[in-house]
Amino acid sequence: MIVYSKRYGDVDAIWRRTNGKCHLCHEGVGLHTYGCLSLYGGEAGSVDHLVPQYFGGTDHFDNLRIAHQRCNSGRGIRDPDEVRLELAGRLDEPRSAGQEVLRAVAITGGGAAVGGLIALATADPVVDETSRQRARNRVIAGSVAGGLLCLLAALATR
Ligand SMILES: [Zn+2]
Repeated sequence: MIVYSKRYGDVDAIWRRTNGKCHLCHEGVGLHTYGCLSLYGGEAGSVDHLVPQYFGGTDHFDNLRIAHQRCNSGRGIRDPDEVRLELAGRLDEPRSAGQEVLRAVAITGGGAAVGGLIALATADPVVDETSRQRARNRVIAGSVAGGLLCLLAALATR
């Protein structure tokens, strides 16, 4: 379903940005509840400003996040980190599914590179030329994949 706001534009895109989760409490927000305060009350979806309007935050896409009405009101003009810690018990912002995949692959790539380095350091230089070569290949492949995907993940989360 397409939810369009006259003020914020494509609400779907704002919603997808955090994988349909409230950026404050990390629980799901029903897209169909957006703006329907009379029907859903505090459960209704709303658009929250990362930098509050009070401090000059704009309606630019980068400054907008989906949040439950109750979380949004409860936050007021406080720092999102403070509210996330209070509601979700952690500081991080929910990520989109795409960002999660990139991050997982980047971590896996980094892990493969580290594993390869350890194997390389512990392999017997004379007897074990084949496993040294294999370990070297793992370091190269893991580093390239990890580096590339870290870059992609960094770009995707900008
Ligand atoms: Zn919430």
